[in-house]
Amino acid sequence: MSDAGHGTDTPVRVRVAPSPTGDPHVGTAYQALVNLAFARSRGGVFVLRIEDTDRARSSRASEAAILDALRWLGLDWDEGPYRQSERLDLYRSEVDRLLAAGSAYRCFCTRERLDEMRRENRAEQRFPGYDRRCRSLSSAESERRAAAGEPHTVRLAMPTEGECVMQDLLRGEIRREWELVDDQVILKADGYPTYHLACTVDDHEMGISHVIRGEEWINSLPKHLRLAPSSTSTSCAG
Ligand code: GLU
Repeated sequence: MSDAGHGTDTPVRVRVAPSPTGDPHVGTAYQALVNLAFARSRGGVFVLRIEDTDRARSSRASEAAILDALRWLGLDWDEGPYRQSERLDLYRSEVDRLLAAGSAYRCFCTRERLDEMRRENRAEQRFPGYDRRCRSLSSAESERRAAAGEPHTVRLAMPTEGECVMQDLLRGEIRREWELVDDQVILKADGYPTYHLACTVDDHEMGISHVIRGEEWINSLPKHLRLAPSSTSTSCAG
């Protein structure tokens, strides 16, 4: 757990952000409980956000079940539920900004090519991530192919050297070598954002002061910090 670099005078705003892709599970309840307790202990606000950007797996029935479960447990929220599927313009404009800044690039690699690349990476015991082939396309070519309607995703251009230094309020300093962080897809071919983009944009937009979530998200933190460089210490709790 950690603060999002806002300083101690910033009002506390925390969130739970379940994905409505199945039955309610205990991890969501646990995370809601910890966030709610933290908000109450600091006179803060507890926000509920529904992360429904996986079009194939999200459903309103699952969302309703999650809301019912949280209410039944007495884990009521102060704000929301906000739905990411209703905020697509916001993510799209952030992608445009990242593309214009050269911090992201369009990837035209087909599924077949990516599968082939993964097989080769495995066989040769190379870094399992994307090999960055489309990163070297000129912006003119990238624009032309996009304008011609060629299917593509958008990837974040990660640094290729140096270290990402993260401050976690529970674990202290955590370091990761940038070259081991994949060029994450942030916009899918269907125009929907991936979790990483939508979550980071929303945490920023919603003024989330502290991110308290499962420790499995620590490995994603370099990507989130890259998307929101001003947030120096958004982080994870086990
Ligand atoms: N939608 C993510 C999940 O359900 C949220 C992770 C987070 O809290 O950032 O696990």
